[in-house]
Amino acid sequence: MEYSKLVDVYEQLNKTTKRLEKTHIIAEFLKEISIDDMEHVILLLEGRIFPNYDAREIGVASRLMLKSLGIAIGIGIDKIEKEWKKQGDLGLVAELLVKTKKQATLHSTKLTTKKVFENLRKLAEIEGEGTVERKTQLIAELLTSAKPVESKYIVKTILGEMRIGVGEGAMRDAIVWAFFGNKIGIKYAREMNDIEVEDREVYNKYADAVQSAYDVTNEFALVAKAAKSKGLDALENIGMKVGIPIQVMLALKVDTIEEAFETVGKPAAIEFKYDGFRIQAHKGEKGGIRLFTRRLEDVTKQFPDVVEYIKKHVKGKSFIIDSEAVGYDKKTGRYLPFQNISQRIKRKYDIDRMSNDFPVEVNVFDIINFEGKSMINEEFEKRRKLLEKIVKQEPKKIVVSKIKIVSEKKDVEKFFKEAVNAGNEGLMFKSLNSPYKPGARVGYMIKFKHMMETLDLVIVGAEWGEGKRARWLSSYTVACLDENDDFLEVGKVSTGLKEKEEEGLSFMEMTRLLKPLIISEKGKEVKIKPKIIIEVGYEEIQKSPTYESGLALRFPRVISQRIDKGPHEASTLDYVKKLYAGQKKS
Ligand code: AMP
Repeated sequence: MEYSKLVDVYEQLNKTTKRLEKTHIIAEFLKEISIDDMEHVILLLEGRIFPNYDAREIGVASRLMLKSLGIAIGIGIDKIEKEWKKQGDLGLVAELLVKTKKQATLHSTKLTTKKVFENLRKLAEIEGEGTVERKTQLIAELLTSAKPVESKYIVKTILGEMRIGVGEGAMRDAIVWAFFGNKIGIKYAREMNDIEVEDREVYNKYADAVQSAYDVTNEFALVAKAAKSKGLDALENIGMKVGIPIQVMLALKVDTIEEAFETVGKPAAIEFKYDGFRIQAHKGEKGGIRLFTRRLEDVTKQFPDVVEYIKKHVKGKSFIIDSEAVGYDKKTGRYLPFQNISQRIKRKYDIDRMSNDFPVEVNVFDIINFEGKSMINEEFEKRRKLLEKIVKQEPKKIVVSKIKIVSEKKDVEKFFKEAVNAGNEGLMFKSLNSPYKPGARVGYMIKFKHMMETLDLVIVGAEWGEGKRARWLSSYTVACLDENDDFLEVGKVSTGLKEKEEEGLSFMEMTRLLKPLIISEKGKEVKIKPKIIIEVGYEEIQKSPTYESGLALRFPRVISQRIDKGPHEASTLDYVKKLYAGQKKS
């Protein structure tokens, strides 16, 4: 493909900020790219020459670019620098200067996307003696054949400053529109503020297939190629490759054990939730090991210790495993919070000293691929069994995450205490028969960090609602007891109650309970005789000048009515203070 064609698309994309319009431009362009050009053109379109998980860099900074521009255009560096100060963007400078120069010597060779891509890749490979000269040469070679507007984008791509706003979502949708548009019955609405889709369900099927293919390959180039050449089937069978990271499965969050069981079912697996950082470890057929973070950064070099553990302690010729690396105190052996080891992730030098000073234990909790076979559609229980078979555990080096299969709340509570006492953040709940879903925050895996100590509080005030809640008292001022048995406000709670009576404790029922207890009304606010006591959950207790108690609940919500308790059995201020202090320690 001629480079000018791609540049034309860059220009169009730069002219709009509307996501749908951008998507449309990309979709139309994708249809034109031949299968052979697909991989490199899509990378260039994204403003890069390596996929996002690939740590290689072009390695050209502004100074080197100035030098190359000087050689290509044949003017002094100070002149270019002056122009740079004026324009603030080297891409624009290149465009302007090449324009002036081109009037004198018109070049006729046409640049292709392939040529640009190849030269840029070569830039990344050059090392050692004469690096600067050879890099300058390669850039200059491109710029001498480039039209002014082409030089602008060559310079921007090299410097990593494309910023044309082609995000992941736009790219995914563009692939769907381009290659499945006719199957979906898609219409572009005028003004590009909306698109019309005849059948959302069918649309979602294709969008999910594209997303899933991306989640295991992390390269839209591969996804688009599969979609264009072989359609849906190819997407569904695109398969992961050992050595190339896949998007990790993410966890949902719940606040209560009941909610967790509701989502993952009973019995469920519960595991320690380690406070470290995620490592996806790949071992290839040839024995090479690569480590990636949750954001797909390659951290193999930073963790030679982890590479070693995986090499020595995990059986199998090739695999991908999911784990959490946790720092621990060398003297006491206790787990340390994430901050203590976070510095290892970005570290480029003194690696051995770092691994000695800040050791980590690898806690393996899942397996994604084994001996060339994807494991993501296998049930959790089966994946876990395999893990237990292949990991030779050695504490303080590599172990399988601590697990229990439970159905009872009391067993969860016990395990939670054990987890927290050992320095962990809480627990993870896992559904026994679920697959591994890359890139998704689904209910197969749930985090449960705080065992909330709820409070029993008295309603001392309320407020009439608005809109459809106008007939209800829908926000309640709640109070605890001080040592003189007086009520002290600690917050206002308006969530947790149901809109419909049949769903549980409702606003309507609460209004019925509170109405006879109204002492006075002012505007929407009412004072209530302290009689009704409710159990209240929250995220956190904070200091507050607003309330008499000096404390306030963050994100409070009603859990239930304590019909079994009278107002003078409410939680005491002392107790709230204790919880506040406990929270600060953890
Ligand atoms: P969060 O970072 O709070 O969203 O919690 C999810 C993270 O917990 C995962 O991405 C993992 O890095 C980490 N984690 C710690 N222990 C486990 C475990 N046993 N199973 C799965 N994830 C875990």
